[in-house]
Amino acid sequence: MTDRVIPIRLMGSMPASAPRPVAPPPLALYVHVPWCVRKCPYCDFNSHPQRGPLPEGPFLAALIAALEAALPDIWGRRVVSLFIGGGTPSLLSPQAVDGLLAAVRARLSCAPGMEITLEANPGTVEAARFAGFRAAGVNRLSLGVQSFADGQLRALGRIHDGDGARRALAIARKVFDRVNVDLMYALPGQTPELALADVETALAFDPTHLSCYELTIEPNTAFAHQPPALPDEDCAADIHDAIESRLLAAGWEHYEVSAYARPGHACTHNLNYWRFGDYLGIGPGAHSKLTMPDGIRRALRHPHPDAYLSRAGKSDFLQSQHRVPAEDLPVEFMLNALRLADGFEFELFEARTGLPFATLQSDLEGFAAQGLITLNEGRVRPTARGFRLANTMLAALLDRRHQQP
Ligand code: SF4
Repeated sequence: MTDRVIPIRLMGSMPASAPRPVAPPPLALYVHVPWCVRKCPYCDFNSHPQRGPLPEGPFLAALIAALEAALPDIWGRRVVSLFIGGGTPSLLSPQAVDGLLAAVRARLSCAPGMEITLEANPGTVEAARFAGFRAAGVNRLSLGVQSFADGQLRALGRIHDGDGARRALAIARKVFDRVNVDLMYALPGQTPELALADVETALAFDPTHLSCYELTIEPNTAFAHQPPALPDEDCAADIHDAIESRLLAAGWEHYEVSAYARPGHACTHNLNYWRFGDYLGIGPGAHSKLTMPDGIRRALRHPHPDAYLSRAGKSDFLQSQHRVPAEDLPVEFMLNALRLADGFEFELFEARTGLPFATLQSDLEGFAAQGLITLNEGRVRPTARGFRLANTMLAALLDRRHQQP
Protein backbone atom coordinates (compact mmCIF):
# COMPACT_ATOMS: atom_id res chain seq x y z
CA MET A 1 0.00 0.00 0.00
CA THR A 2 1.51 3.29 -1.02
CA ASP A 3 0.74 6.88 -1.83
CA ARG A 4 0.57 5.94 -5.46
CA VAL A 5 -2.93 6.76 -6.51
CA ILE A 6 -4.80 4.31 -8.65
CA PRO A 7 -6.89 6.57 -10.83
CA ILE A 8 -10.53 5.62 -10.62
CA ARG A 9 -12.21 4.68 -13.84
CA LEU A 10 -15.14 2.72 -15.14
CA MET A 11 -14.71 -0.46 -17.06
CA GLY A 12 -16.99 -1.73 -19.80
CA SER A 13 -18.43 0.09 -22.72
CA MET A 14 -21.47 2.23 -23.37
CA PRO A 15 -22.74 3.53 -26.69
CA ALA A 16 -20.19 6.10 -27.81
CA SER A 17 -20.93 9.68 -28.69
CA ALA A 18 -18.03 12.02 -29.12
CA PRO A 19 -17.64 15.00 -26.78
CA ARG A 20 -16.21 18.25 -28.11
CA PRO A 21 -12.45 18.02 -28.66
CA VAL A 22 -10.59 19.44 -25.68
CA ALA A 23 -7.12 20.88 -25.24
CA PRO A 24 -4.87 18.24 -23.69
CA PRO A 25 -4.55 18.64 -19.91
CA PRO A 26 -1.25 18.36 -17.99
CA LEU A 27 0.60 15.11 -18.67
CA ALA A 28 2.27 12.95 -15.99
CA LEU A 29 4.44 9.88 -16.41
CA TYR A 30 4.05 6.76 -14.25
CA VAL A 31 6.56 3.89 -14.20
CA HIS A 32 5.51 0.62 -12.55
CA VAL A 33 8.13 -1.63 -10.95
CA PRO A 34 6.30 -4.91 -10.33
CA TRP A 35 8.51 -6.74 -7.84
CA CYS A 36 8.44 -6.97 -4.02
CA VAL A 37 10.44 -9.06 -1.59
CA ARG A 38 7.22 -10.88 -0.82
CA LYS A 39 3.51 -10.33 -1.16
CA CYS A 40 1.74 -8.63 1.76
CA PRO A 41 -1.50 -10.40 2.72
CA TYR A 42 -3.69 -7.30 2.21
CA CYS A 43 -2.22 -6.20 -1.12
CA ASP A 44 -4.16 -6.29 -4.37
CA PHE A 45 -1.61 -4.26 -6.36
CA ASN A 46 0.17 -5.68 -9.38
CA SER A 47 3.15 -6.87 -7.34
CA HIS A 48 5.07 -10.13 -7.65
CA PRO A 49 7.54 -11.73 -5.25
CA GLN A 50 11.11 -11.23 -6.36
CA ARG A 51 12.84 -14.50 -7.26
CA GLY A 52 16.58 -14.08 -7.67
CA PRO A 53 18.24 -10.89 -8.88
CA LEU A 54 16.03 -8.37 -10.65
CA PRO A 55 16.41 -8.41 -14.44
CA GLU A 56 17.32 -4.70 -14.38
CA GLY A 57 18.92 -4.57 -17.83
CA PRO A 58 16.02 -6.17 -19.74
CA PHE A 59 13.51 -4.25 -17.61
CA LEU A 60 15.11 -0.89 -18.38
CA ALA A 61 15.33 -1.79 -22.07
CA ALA A 62 11.62 -2.73 -22.05
CA LEU A 63 10.64 0.54 -20.32
CA ILE A 64 12.57 2.55 -22.88
CA ALA A 65 11.00 0.59 -25.75
CA ALA A 66 7.53 1.22 -24.27
CA LEU A 67 8.29 4.92 -23.90
CA GLU A 68 9.47 5.17 -27.50
CA ALA A 69 6.43 3.29 -28.77
CA ALA A 70 4.20 5.81 -26.94
CA LEU A 71 5.99 8.94 -28.16
CA PRO A 72 3.69 9.57 -31.15
CA ASP A 73 0.73 9.79 -28.73
CA ILE A 74 2.31 12.51 -26.60
CA TRP A 75 4.35 14.37 -29.18
CA GLY A 76 5.21 17.95 -28.19
CA ARG A 77 3.68 17.65 -24.71
CA ARG A 78 5.55 18.53 -21.54
CA VAL A 79 5.64 16.12 -18.61
CA VAL A 80 4.74 17.76 -15.27
CA SER A 81 5.63 14.92 -12.87
CA LEU A 82 7.12 11.45 -12.76
CA PHE A 83 6.17 8.76 -10.26
CA ILE A 84 8.10 5.49 -9.97
CA GLY A 85 5.73 3.19 -8.11
CA GLY A 86 5.12 -0.47 -7.52
CA GLY A 87 5.71 -3.01 -6.20
CA THR A 88 8.89 -1.89 -4.52
CA PRO A 89 10.89 0.43 -6.80
CA SER A 90 13.58 0.82 -4.13
CA LEU A 91 14.66 -2.72 -5.04
CA LEU A 92 16.15 -1.15 -8.18
CA SER A 93 19.76 -0.05 -8.00
CA PRO A 94 20.48 3.70 -8.12
CA GLN A 95 22.24 3.02 -11.44
CA ALA A 96 19.04 1.60 -12.92
CA VAL A 97 17.04 4.60 -11.67
CA ASP A 98 19.69 6.92 -13.10
CA GLY A 99 19.45 5.12 -16.46
CA LEU A 100 15.66 5.40 -16.41
CA LEU A 101 15.66 9.12 -15.62
CA ALA A 102 18.30 9.80 -18.27
CA ALA A 103 16.20 7.91 -20.84
CA VAL A 104 13.09 9.91 -19.88
CA ARG A 105 14.91 13.25 -20.09
CA ALA A 106 16.41 12.35 -23.47
CA ARG A 107 13.00 11.57 -24.97
CA LEU A 108 10.51 13.87 -23.27
CA SER A 109 10.24 17.53 -22.49
CA CYS A 110 10.20 17.71 -18.69
CA ALA A 111 8.96 20.70 -16.69
CA PRO A 112 11.86 22.45 -14.93
CA GLY A 113 12.28 21.07 -11.40
CA MET A 114 9.45 18.60 -11.92
CA GLU A 115 8.43 16.39 -9.02
CA ILE A 116 10.08 12.95 -9.31
CA THR A 117 8.81 10.52 -6.68
CA LEU A 118 10.13 7.06 -5.93
CA GLU A 119 8.38 4.61 -3.64
CA ALA A 120 10.55 2.84 -1.12
CA ASN A 121 10.14 0.24 1.57
CA PRO A 122 11.98 0.65 4.83
CA GLY A 123 14.27 -2.37 4.48
CA THR A 124 17.84 -1.44 5.40
CA VAL A 125 19.25 -2.54 2.04
CA GLU A 126 16.99 -0.15 0.21
CA ALA A 127 17.50 2.66 2.72
CA ALA A 128 21.24 2.61 2.02
CA ARG A 129 20.37 3.42 -1.59
CA PHE A 130 18.49 6.62 -0.87
CA ALA A 131 21.48 8.91 -1.51
CA GLY A 132 21.98 7.19 -4.87
CA PHE A 133 18.35 7.76 -5.83
CA ARG A 134 18.68 11.44 -4.89
CA ALA A 135 21.85 11.78 -6.97
CA ALA A 136 20.01 10.21 -9.91
CA GLY A 137 17.41 13.01 -9.75
CA VAL A 138 14.63 11.65 -7.53
CA ASN A 139 13.45 14.62 -5.43
CA ARG A 140 10.59 13.09 -3.43
CA LEU A 141 10.61 9.81 -1.53
CA SER A 142 7.46 7.96 -0.54
CA LEU A 143 8.11 5.54 2.29
CA GLY A 144 5.74 2.61 2.88
CA VAL A 145 5.90 2.58 6.67
CA GLN A 146 2.26 1.57 7.41
CA SER A 147 2.87 1.44 11.20
CA PHE A 148 5.71 1.75 13.68
CA ALA A 149 4.28 -0.94 15.97
CA ASP A 150 6.08 -4.27 15.64
CA GLY A 151 2.93 -6.31 16.32
CA GLN A 152 0.94 -4.48 13.65
CA LEU A 153 3.76 -4.81 11.13
CA ARG A 154 3.86 -8.56 11.77
CA ALA A 155 0.09 -8.79 11.36
CA LEU A 156 0.38 -6.91 8.06
CA GLY A 157 3.10 -9.30 6.86
CA ARG A 158 5.58 -6.47 6.37
CA ILE A 159 9.30 -7.23 6.03
CA HIS A 160 10.40 -4.38 8.33
CA ASP A 161 9.92 -3.68 12.03
CA GLY A 162 9.37 -0.39 13.85
CA ASP A 163 13.09 0.26 14.31
CA GLY A 164 13.69 -0.37 10.60
CA ALA A 165 10.95 2.12 9.74
CA ARG A 166 12.43 4.77 12.05
CA ARG A 167 15.94 4.22 10.63
CA ALA A 168 14.73 4.45 7.03
CA LEU A 169 12.73 7.59 7.79
CA ALA A 170 15.70 9.25 9.46
CA ILE A 171 17.86 8.55 6.39
CA ALA A 172 15.10 9.65 4.04
CA ARG A 173 14.77 13.01 5.83
CA LYS A 174 18.53 13.60 5.69
CA VAL A 175 18.62 12.91 1.95
CA PHE A 176 15.29 14.30 0.68
CA ASP A 177 13.52 17.62 1.24
CA ARG A 178 10.19 16.03 0.35
CA VAL A 179 9.16 12.81 2.06
CA ASN A 180 5.79 11.10 2.14
CA VAL A 181 5.00 8.53 4.82
CA ASP A 182 2.31 5.93 4.14
CA LEU A 183 0.38 4.91 7.24
CA MET A 184 -2.49 2.47 7.52
CA TYR A 185 -5.17 2.74 10.16
CA ALA A 186 -8.08 0.67 11.47
CA LEU A 187 -5.56 -2.14 11.94
CA PRO A 188 -6.45 -5.25 13.97
CA GLY A 189 -6.98 -4.26 17.61
CA GLN A 190 -6.09 -0.62 16.95
CA THR A 191 -7.57 2.19 19.02
CA PRO A 192 -7.45 5.93 18.28
CA GLU A 193 -4.62 6.21 20.84
CA LEU A 194 -2.53 3.54 19.11
CA ALA A 195 -3.12 5.09 15.69
CA LEU A 196 -2.13 8.50 17.06
CA ALA A 197 1.09 6.99 18.39
CA ASP A 198 1.99 6.09 14.79
CA VAL A 199 1.15 9.61 13.62
CA GLU A 200 3.24 11.16 16.44
CA THR A 201 6.23 9.02 15.52
CA ALA A 202 5.91 10.01 11.86
CA LEU A 203 5.60 13.71 12.78
CA ALA A 204 8.76 13.50 14.89
CA PHE A 205 10.68 12.99 11.64
CA ASP A 206 9.16 16.10 10.06
CA PRO A 207 7.88 14.61 6.80
CA THR A 208 6.17 16.85 4.24
CA HIS A 209 3.29 14.54 3.36
CA LEU A 210 1.29 11.77 5.01
CA SER A 211 -0.97 9.29 3.24
CA CYS A 212 -3.36 7.59 5.67
CA TYR A 213 -5.28 4.63 4.33
CA GLU A 214 -7.88 2.58 6.13
CA LEU A 215 -7.07 -1.13 5.98
CA THR A 216 -9.78 -2.76 3.89
CA ILE A 217 -10.09 -6.38 2.86
CA GLU A 218 -9.78 -6.67 -0.89
CA PRO A 219 -10.85 -9.67 -2.98
CA ASN A 220 -8.09 -12.01 -4.17
CA THR A 221 -5.79 -11.30 -1.26
CA ALA A 222 -4.62 -13.59 1.55
CA PHE A 223 -6.68 -11.49 4.00
CA ALA A 224 -9.81 -12.15 1.93
CA HIS A 225 -9.35 -15.88 2.63
CA GLN A 226 -8.39 -15.43 6.28
CA PRO A 227 -9.65 -12.02 7.34
CA PRO A 228 -8.23 -10.51 10.53
CA ALA A 229 -10.63 -8.99 13.05
CA LEU A 230 -10.73 -5.28 12.25
CA PRO A 231 -12.11 -2.42 14.34
CA ASP A 232 -15.80 -1.81 13.67
CA GLU A 233 -17.06 1.08 11.55
CA ASP A 234 -17.53 3.46 14.50
CA CYS A 235 -14.06 2.78 15.84
CA ALA A 236 -12.53 3.22 12.35
CA ALA A 237 -14.36 6.57 12.06
CA ASP A 238 -13.05 7.62 15.50
CA ILE A 239 -9.51 6.74 14.44
CA HIS A 240 -9.93 8.71 11.22
CA ASP A 241 -11.23 11.74 13.12
CA ALA A 242 -8.44 11.54 15.70
CA ILE A 243 -5.78 11.48 12.98
CA GLU A 244 -7.41 14.34 11.10
CA SER A 245 -7.76 16.51 14.23
CA ARG A 246 -4.14 15.94 15.22
CA LEU A 247 -2.79 16.84 11.79
CA LEU A 248 -5.04 19.90 11.34
CA ALA A 249 -3.95 21.12 14.78
CA ALA A 250 -0.33 20.79 13.64
CA GLY A 251 -1.06 23.05 10.63
CA TRP A 252 -1.34 20.32 8.04
CA GLU A 253 -3.83 20.41 5.18
CA HIS A 254 -6.22 17.52 4.59
CA TYR A 255 -6.44 18.12 0.86
CA GLU A 256 -7.71 14.75 -0.38
CA VAL A 257 -9.64 11.93 1.28
CA SER A 258 -6.46 9.99 2.19
CA ALA A 259 -3.79 12.67 1.80
CA TYR A 260 -2.41 15.26 4.21
CA ALA A 261 0.35 17.75 3.44
CA ARG A 262 2.24 20.55 5.05
CA PRO A 263 1.28 23.77 3.19
CA GLY A 264 2.88 23.81 -0.25
CA HIS A 265 3.68 20.10 -0.27
CA ALA A 266 0.64 18.49 -1.89
CA CYS A 267 1.65 15.76 -4.33
CA THR A 268 1.70 17.22 -7.85
CA HIS A 269 1.49 13.80 -9.45
CA ASN A 270 -1.56 12.63 -7.54
CA LEU A 271 -3.31 16.00 -7.88
CA ASN A 272 -3.07 15.56 -11.62
CA TYR A 273 -4.98 12.27 -11.35
CA TRP A 274 -7.65 13.79 -9.16
CA ARG A 275 -8.04 16.77 -11.47
CA PHE A 276 -8.55 14.36 -14.37
CA GLY A 277 -5.21 15.11 -16.00
CA ASP A 278 -3.51 12.82 -18.48
CA TYR A 279 -0.91 10.18 -17.67
CA LEU A 280 1.23 7.82 -19.61
CA GLY A 281 1.96 4.60 -17.71
CA ILE A 282 4.79 2.27 -18.63
CA GLY A 283 5.84 -0.96 -16.96
CA PRO A 284 3.79 -4.10 -16.25
CA GLY A 285 0.12 -3.43 -15.59
CA ALA A 286 0.47 0.36 -15.89
CA HIS A 287 -2.60 2.32 -16.95
CA SER A 288 -2.62 5.31 -19.29
CA LYS A 289 -5.22 8.00 -19.89
CA LEU A 290 -4.48 10.25 -22.82
CA THR A 291 -6.60 12.98 -24.40
CA MET A 292 -6.45 12.43 -28.16
CA PRO A 293 -8.12 14.29 -31.05
CA ASP A 294 -10.88 11.64 -31.12
CA GLY A 295 -11.52 11.62 -27.36
CA ILE A 296 -10.01 10.20 -24.17
CA ARG A 297 -8.19 6.93 -24.61
CA ARG A 298 -7.38 4.50 -21.82
CA ALA A 299 -4.82 1.73 -22.14
CA LEU A 300 -3.52 -1.09 -19.96
CA ARG A 301 -0.09 -2.75 -20.29
CA HIS A 302 0.39 -6.49 -19.84
CA PRO A 303 0.45 -6.99 -16.06
CA HIS A 304 2.75 -9.96 -15.55
CA PRO A 305 6.46 -9.06 -15.53
CA ASP A 306 7.40 -12.13 -17.60
CA ALA A 307 4.73 -11.42 -20.22
CA TYR A 308 5.80 -7.80 -20.30
CA LEU A 309 9.50 -8.56 -20.70
CA SER A 310 8.85 -11.20 -23.35
CA ARG A 311 7.25 -8.51 -25.53
CA ALA A 312 10.17 -6.12 -25.34
CA GLY A 313 11.59 -7.15 -28.74
CA LYS A 314 8.27 -6.38 -30.42
CA SER A 315 7.50 -3.21 -28.45
CA ASP A 316 3.99 -4.61 -28.08
CA PHE A 317 3.18 -3.92 -24.44
CA LEU A 318 -0.52 -3.08 -24.57
CA GLN A 319 -2.99 -5.59 -23.22
CA SER A 320 -6.01 -3.46 -24.08
CA GLN A 321 -7.09 0.04 -25.00
CA HIS A 322 -10.38 1.79 -25.59
CA ARG A 323 -11.84 5.21 -26.11
CA VAL A 324 -13.90 6.33 -23.10
CA PRO A 325 -17.52 6.81 -24.19
CA ALA A 326 -18.83 10.31 -23.56
CA GLU A 327 -21.54 8.80 -21.34
CA ASP A 328 -18.90 7.60 -18.88
CA LEU A 329 -16.95 10.83 -18.60
CA PRO A 330 -19.09 12.67 -16.00
CA VAL A 331 -18.84 9.83 -13.47
CA GLU A 332 -15.18 9.14 -14.26
CA PHE A 333 -14.40 12.79 -13.66
CA MET A 334 -16.35 13.00 -10.39
CA LEU A 335 -14.91 9.76 -8.99
CA ASN A 336 -11.59 11.56 -9.00
CA ALA A 337 -12.41 15.23 -8.44
CA LEU A 338 -14.92 14.73 -5.60
CA ARG A 339 -12.07 13.28 -3.50
CA LEU A 340 -10.51 16.74 -3.23
CA ALA A 341 -11.30 18.96 -0.24
CA ASP A 342 -11.42 21.96 -2.58
CA GLY A 343 -13.63 20.15 -5.07
CA PHE A 344 -13.45 21.44 -8.62
CA GLU A 345 -14.36 24.38 -10.81
CA PHE A 346 -17.27 24.01 -13.26
CA GLU A 347 -14.80 25.06 -15.96
CA LEU A 348 -12.40 22.26 -15.12
CA PHE A 349 -15.07 19.69 -15.87
CA GLU A 350 -15.78 21.27 -19.25
CA ALA A 351 -12.08 21.64 -20.10
CA ARG A 352 -11.23 18.05 -19.22
CA THR A 353 -14.22 16.29 -20.76
CA GLY A 354 -15.48 18.59 -23.53
CA LEU A 355 -18.98 18.21 -22.07
CA PRO A 356 -21.25 20.99 -20.76
CA PHE A 357 -21.39 21.35 -16.97
CA ALA A 358 -25.15 20.74 -17.17
CA THR A 359 -24.31 17.05 -17.73
CA LEU A 360 -23.53 16.81 -14.00
CA GLN A 361 -26.63 18.69 -12.90
CA SER A 362 -28.85 15.85 -11.66
CA ASP A 363 -26.12 14.05 -9.72
CA LEU A 364 -24.86 17.23 -8.11
CA GLU A 365 -28.30 18.51 -7.18
CA GLY A 366 -28.94 15.20 -5.40
CA PHE A 367 -25.72 15.52 -3.40
CA ALA A 368 -26.41 19.18 -2.63
CA ALA A 369 -29.91 18.30 -1.34
CA GLN A 370 -28.30 15.81 1.05
CA GLY A 371 -25.88 18.47 2.31
CA LEU A 372 -22.86 16.68 0.86
CA ILE A 373 -21.66 19.42 -1.52
CA THR A 374 -22.12 23.11 -2.23
CA LEU A 375 -22.34 24.73 -5.67
CA ASN A 376 -21.08 28.30 -5.33
CA GLU A 377 -19.10 30.75 -7.41
CA GLY A 378 -18.42 28.32 -10.19
CA ARG A 379 -17.10 25.61 -7.88
CA VAL A 380 -18.35 22.27 -6.59
CA ARG A 381 -17.04 21.75 -3.08
CA PRO A 382 -17.72 18.94 -0.62
CA THR A 383 -19.10 20.05 2.74
CA ALA A 384 -17.29 18.78 5.86
CA ARG A 385 -19.83 15.97 5.98
CA GLY A 386 -19.48 15.27 2.25
CA PHE A 387 -15.68 15.11 2.57
CA ARG A 388 -15.98 12.62 5.41
CA LEU A 389 -18.54 10.60 3.45
CA ALA A 390 -16.72 10.95 0.11
CA ASN A 391 -16.40 7.21 -0.37
CA THR A 392 -20.13 6.74 0.25
CA MET A 393 -20.88 9.50 -2.25
CA LEU A 394 -18.57 7.92 -4.85
CA ALA A 395 -20.12 4.48 -4.30
CA ALA A 396 -23.62 5.96 -4.82
CA LEU A 397 -22.40 7.54 -8.04
CA LEU A 398 -21.07 4.22 -9.30
CA ASP A 399 -24.26 2.39 -8.34
CA ARG A 400 -26.44 4.91 -10.14
CA ARG A 401 -24.21 4.73 -13.19
CA HIS A 402 -24.41 0.97 -13.32
CA GLN A 403 -28.20 1.07 -13.01
CA GLN A 404 -28.55 3.31 -16.05
CA PRO A 405 -29.50 1.53 -19.27
S1 SF4 B 1 5.24 -3.97 -0.37
FE1 SF4 B 1 3.48 -2.77 -1.13
S2 SF4 B 1 3.18 -3.36 -3.26
FE2 SF4 B 1 4.54 -4.91 -2.31
S3 SF4 B 1 3.16 -6.55 -1.69
FE3 SF4 B 1 3.42 -5.19 0.09
S4 SF4 B 1 1.74 -3.69 -0.08
FE4 SF4 B 1 1.90 -4.73 -2.06
